[in-house]
Amino acid sequence: MQLTVLGSTGSIGTSTLDVVSRHAGAIQIFALTAHRQVDVMLRQCAQFSPIFAVMTDPEAARQLESKLKSEGLATRVLVGPDALIDVVTDARVQAVMASIVGAAGLPPSLAAAQAGKRLLLANKESIVLGGQLFIDAVKGGGATLLPIDSEHSAIFQSLPEDPRVWDSRIDKIILTASGGPFRTRDPATLSQVTPQEAVAHPNWSMGRKISVDSATMMNKALEVIEAHHLFGVKPEQIEVVIHPQSVIHSMVQYRDNSVVAQLGTPDMRVPIAYGLSWPERITSGASALDFSQLNALTFETPDLRRFPGLQLAWDALNGVQGGSAKLNAANEVAVESFLNGKIRFDQIHAVNAEVLAQEGHIQPQSLADLFELDAWARAMAEDWVVRHGQ
Ligand code: NAD
Ligand code: MG
Repeated sequence: MQLTVLGSTGSIGTSTLDVVSRHAGAIQIFALTAHRQVDVMLRQCAQFSPIFAVMTDPEAARQLESKLKSEGLATRVLVGPDALIDVVTDARVQAVMASIVGAAGLPPSLAAAQAGKRLLLANKESIVLGGQLFIDAVKGGGATLLPIDSEHSAIFQSLPEDPRVWDSRIDKIILTASGGPFRTRDPATLSQVTPQEAVAHPNWSMGRKISVDSATMMNKALEVIEAHHLFGVKPEQIEVVIHPQSVIHSMVQYRDNSVVAQLGTPDMRVPIAYGLSWPERITSGASALDFSQLNALTFETPDLRRFPGLQLAWDALNGVQGGSAKLNAANEVAVESFLNGKIRFDQIHAVNAEVLAQEGHIQPQSLADLFELDAWARAMAEDWVVRHGQ
């Protein structure tokens, strides 16, 4: 199988290559892509010999090209966002791992869907932004969509293989959440949280953006929206429960109140390996659960005073069309602004709630409309940061 890995230098990208390295005969790397990390990309090219390496940043592309040359490596460098489309739609590619962070991942994920590839989707922002239009592109292109987000992989693994029976059998989807680093912190002190504290997740090692999203629980809000689109369930059929041990990765409750769950150690190589091998199973490199060492699995109801952002998922899904796109864009700006020291941690929610509540813009009917709405919401969020930030 020829695989393109979008965002190969990130947390999901490097875990994907770790799994691939265990199955070198069966999976070959067609292309790797990254934004700026030249040295990581150089090492990956040396190990996996892709035909193409894409750097979306032009200066990084120039540097990579000269380093590959001086090391005598044959990988060809392509530059810019358009090249991402070329390396996913190429006829030689069978599978695409979509692990770019943020809405920047939507155009190549969508191109892979339209081209009918096996699409391993980690980039949750692209489905939150693309919504039903994204799902329609998957169906129209005859693509196979395999969720990589651990919760959605867990749900997918807990559901029958035939999606046509899902609607008549599912009662509800129960997404588990670790509660992040601030699960027990006094909500009154959340205004003092530093970026360093916010990115230090207790159970998972991840990129900076998703780590901040886990600390605010906006990650779970995005995952509620993601589950709505992936599994065709109504917003009120989705429930979130805090499970601090991160052993149960999510559950499906059926009409008869029977619950099916997927369990494992918190290691993204498990959902990645499943995405690569589905419907078969291959080794992932993750360690097995040791039940003799598991003393308790506990559950809590999320406290909306501590995590007000969680509620925004239902507000977006039940409000006017385009809410999810606005929320995602606002959150990307808010998280970036927090990491850059322009706003406080608790102001992330203020930005998101304010932009989501803004009305008077287009009802998106097409992808072009969605991108316009995304840009409009980003501008609104930037404006909030300028007016209220430090
Ligand atoms: P990361 O920040 O570690 O890596 C992001 C990758 O995207 C890097 O390779 C970077 O070079 C590339 N990139 C960044 N901006 C880009 C741009 N504008 N254009 C092109 N490429 C760009 O992020 P991550 O933690 O690996 O997360 C990737 C995606 O997977 C996110 O959507 C995240 O929500 C999702 N996800 C991650 C995890 C996890 O455990 N890390 C779990 C579930 C879902
Ligand atoms: Mg997740």
